[in-house]
Amino acid sequence: ARETFIYSEKLNIVSELSASVAHEIRNPLTVTNGFLQLLNTSKTISMEEKKYIEYSLLELERAEKIVSDFLVFAKPQSNNMVYSNFKEEIEYVTNIMTPYANMHQVAIQVNFNNSLYKTFDKNQIQQCLINLYKNGIEAMKKDGGTLYIDVSERKKKIFIQIGDTGTGMTSEEIAHLGKPYYSTKKEGTGLGMLMVYSTISKVKGKIEVESEVGQGTTFLITIPV
Ligand code: ADP
Ligand code: MG
Repeated sequence: ARETFIYSEKLNIVSELSASVAHEIRNPLTVTNGFLQLLNTSKTISMEEKKYIEYSLLELERAEKIVSDFLVFAKPQSNNMVYSNFKEEIEYVTNIMTPYANMHQVAIQVNFNNSLYKTFDKNQIQQCLINLYKNGIEAMKKDGGTLYIDVSERKKKIFIQIGDTGTGMTSEEIAHLGKPYYSTKKEGTGLGMLMVYSTISKVKGKIEVESEVGQGTTFLITIPV
């Protein structure tokens, strides 16, 4: 199955808001988590009260997941626009995703040929790549596998390929990608791909998806310079 999406300008507002919202929300989440943990160690609370604390901690964890899938963590008002190629971003994301990959018996193989320079929002591109890596790894979490990353350039275009050897998707599942809250995972947010599409649309790129059930999935991102 192969589908192409070119998302509309409308999605751009999503990424513009996300930087400042992430910053504002993460702090209270962390603080609340800390106090609840502290409360949980109290010797004067009942079993029932303890249960409420456990529920609250789980709900906080869920909120944290939504923030990290969807929002870009960056200081508001700080300028994250860089004129760069994708090497640093791919290296950074590969590094921070390696422990998660190891946890699921997934190897990450990176092939960086060359990439043209372009102005982009560093934090947004990193978050977008993190979401794609994460989905690839999660699609392989049952039996392990390899996540293949390939970056190259041709005719004033940057090509980023992210392939996995995981569960794959049907055409119908591919068609749902990027719809808010669409998730087939028990603990999924269904916001990761929305963030991916909005970021790629911002740099006027397009995303092609090739997937075969039981074989794996490859996302091909093409970004014009
Ligand atoms: P979440 O990961 O929280 O479920 P996403 O928006 O990141 O939300 O992804 C939405 C859905 O798209 C996933 O639940 C999954 O069904 C499907 N999906 C995304 N990437 C892949 C992939 N590489 N392989 C298989 N399915 C995928
Ligand atoms: Mg995801």
